[in-house]
Amino acid sequence: MLKKLFMKRKCTEVMNKIQMYLDRELDEPTAAKIADHLEMCQDCKFEADFFAKIKYSLQTSGGAVAPDTLDRLHNFASSLTEGSEAAS
Ligand SMILES: [Zn+2]
Repeated sequence: MLKKLFMKRKCTEVMNKIQMYLDRELDEPTAAKIADHLEMCQDCKFEADFFAKIKYSLQTSGGAVAPDTLDRLHNFASSLTEGSEAAS
């Protein structure tokens, strides 16, 4: 439990820096720490992949998000909504 709590705090730290990490704007020790954390934390890895995908879409489509990325976002949002309505 304590370990989980510790991880959570680390996750917040990582998430705060993930954009800079993907932009390669971090100094090497910090980037290495984040890479380390992504290796062992599925949640952050997922977030990082997600951000990377959006970034990649933005770069390759010259500003517009690729349709399949939007679809994914939409599906993700729908699944969240469905989850909260499942009780009724
Ligand atoms: Zn994490």
